[in-house]
Amino acid sequence: MLQLPDYDDVCKAAERLKEQAHRTPALSSRTANQELGAEVFFKCENLQRTGAFKFRGAFNALSRFDEEQRRAGVVTFSSGNHGQAIALAARLLNVPATVLMPQDTPTSKIAATQHYGGKVVLFDRYHDDREQLCRDLSEQQGLTLIPPYDHADVIAGQGTAAKELLEDVGALDALFVCLGGGGLLSGSALSTRAIAPQCRLYGVEPEAGNDAQQSFRTGAIVHIATPKTIADGAQTQHLGHYTFAIIRRDVDDILTVTDGQLVECMRFFATRMKLVVEPTGCLGFAAAREMKSELQGQRVGVVISGGNVDLERYCALLSA
Ligand SMILES: *Cc1c(COP(=O)(O)O)cnc(C)c1O
Repeated sequence: MLQLPDYDDVCKAAERLKEQAHRTPALSSRTANQELGAEVFFKCENLQRTGAFKFRGAFNALSRFDEEQRRAGVVTFSSGNHGQAIALAARLLNVPATVLMPQDTPTSKIAATQHYGGKVVLFDRYHDDREQLCRDLSEQQGLTLIPPYDHADVIAGQGTAAKELLEDVGALDALFVCLGGGGLLSGSALSTRAIAPQCRLYGVEPEAGNDAQQSFRTGAIVHIATPKTIADGAQTQHLGHYTFAIIRRDVDDILTVTDGQLVECMRFFATRMKLVVEPTGCLGFAAAREMKSELQGQRVGVVISGGNVDLERYCALLSA
C-alpha cells in the first residue's frame, strides 16, 4: 500500500517553505475576465525562485533529509525545471547535488543548473539507462534519489501553490492546473479538497501526450512514447503511482490542448499581462478559454506553472 501524502503534509511543507519560497502573486486581468465572462485568478509560479513551482517540492523533499542523507547528497535526473530546483534547494540546505542530464541538453540549461551549484553528469539518452545510472550513483555514493513528481514530499511541496492561491483569493468554482507527471496536480488536489471541496479541479496536458487523460478514463496508468509537443515540461510518458492514486480520487477531469492554443496563450500573457510564460505554463489557461460557456459568472483559478524558455525559442514560437 502506498502511503499517500495528505493536506497535513502540505501544511507542514508550507511551514518549511515560508522563508525560502516566494509567495507568488495571484494576478488578474480585465481582458481575461471579459473574454471568459468570469473572474479569473492567475497563480504566477513563473515568478517563483528558479522560474517554476518545482522549487517547492524540491526544497520540501530535501528539508526532510536526515544528517547522513544531507552529508552524502541528492541525485536526480532532469534536463528541465526539476534539475534546477534541486540544485538551488540543495545549495540552500548545504547538500551536494548531482543532476543527470542527456548529452544533447541545451548548454543554457546545463549552465543554469551549474550556476545553482549542481554537479551535472551527462549521459547518452539513446544508450544509457538513466534510472540505472541513478541507482548506481545512489548505491556507490549513498546519494538519495528525488524524482521529479512521484514522491510524497515532492507532491506535498507542490501543493503549497494552490493552498496559497485559495487562501489569497478565497474559494473558487474551478481550478485549472498544468499536468505532466502529476506532481503539481496531485498536490493541488490535496489543498483544493481540504480548503474548497466544491471547486471543480481540472488537469491539462498537451493533446499529443494525453496519457493522463487515458489513464484517468481507463483506471490504469497508461504509458506512451515521448510526445512531440512544444510543452517540454509535460513530455512525460506516464503518471506516477502516487500521483495517479490522488488524481483518480480527487480530480474532476483531465483536458487537453494543442500547441497552437499554447502559443496563443503565450502571446496573451506577454501582451496583456507582461508575463513571460513557457509553453507548458500555458496549459491551464488554454483549457479554461475552451470552457468559456461553462465558466460564465464563476470564480476561476489558473496556475501558471513556469516561465523558463530561451529567449530565442520564445521569439521563434511567437513569430511562427
Ligand atoms: C514540471 C512542470 C510541469 C508538470 O508538472 P508535473 O508535476 O510533472 O505534472 C508543468 N509546468 C512546468 C513549467 C514544469 O516545470
